[in-house]
Amino acid sequence: SAGSGDLPTEIWEKVKNHPCYSEEAHHHYARMHVAVAPACNIQCNYCNRKYDCANESRPGVVSEKLSPEQAAKKVLAVASTIPQMTVLGIAGPGDPLANPEKTFKTFELISRTAPDIKLCLSTNGLALPDHVDTIAGFNVDHVTITINMVDPEIGARIYPWVFWKHKRYTGVEAAKLLTDRQLQGLEMLTERGILCKVNSVMIPGVNDRHLIEVNKAVKSRGAFLHNIMPLISAAEHGTVFGLTGQRGPSAQELKALQDSCEGEMNMMRHCRQCRADAVGLLGEDRSAEFTTDKIMAME
Ligand code: SF4
Ligand code: SF4
Repeated sequence: SAGSGDLPTEIWEKVKNHPCYSEEAHHHYARMHVAVAPACNIQCNYCNRKYDCANESRPGVVSEKLSPEQAAKKVLAVASTIPQMTVLGIAGPGDPLANPEKTFKTFELISRTAPDIKLCLSTNGLALPDHVDTIAGFNVDHVTITINMVDPEIGARIYPWVFWKHKRYTGVEAAKLLTDRQLQGLEMLTERGILCKVNSVMIPGVNDRHLIEVNKAVKSRGAFLHNIMPLISAAEHGTVFGLTGQRGPSAQELKALQDSCEGEMNMMRHCRQCRADAVGLLGEDRSAEFTTDKIMAME
């Protein structure tokens, strides 16, 4: 796990108060996600659009969608109730950068009304190169990019299509476009000094061995953490549509892969795949206290 021992000092200074990156901080600092981004610009085989984006938010839960104004109001309400609130993330339920107006309007409102709150964002990366300047302009603290492959042949088994510049791409062509855009976006962010974490979903028999290569590719482009998450194959939720019968990794398989990447760079092992409207300290979920009805009734 990430701790002061494994991270370079200048990065540790930036993340030590961040509940997701510091085992210590996650007992003292709270984070919240606001679900303002419903649309997505790609299709992952493991996604079920009825639920939150599986890239950062736990699949199989439905978050309450908010307008940017409702989200800003919610952030203020939470910050006044939970004094440890330090980080606001936008992680779905679709892709935040497939909904740039909503995402950036939310950041604008919050940076005006609650300038001390750190902003973060997670994305599949397809639209990332187009938005790097805006992200830097909002002083976004860190960005999470979900990168499941750097080989388009493998990508074609994970992504049935991507939608880019008014056109739908499929197969290897789609995966090539996605990996190029992801790696370009990662480089552009790290060049500007914005912290980047990479998430990867481990899909046994599809990208499990390949993630060692992904680990090298993202490390060489400046990612500061690599978070390998298990595919959650929950038949009762009807997830993993395109991958019928696809299983998730066992705990041992996940740990073995994380271990073989360790030494290459810092591995994150305590991400909780929080829901897109999670509120509170990392181990807790207080989202039920802050539903739209309750927020709108607060003055
Ligand atoms: Fe679903 Fe997220 Fe993939 Fe979009 S990026 S298809 S919301 S898992
Ligand atoms: Fe932190 Fe992971 Fe939860 Fe995001 S999903 S808030 S990185 S623990």
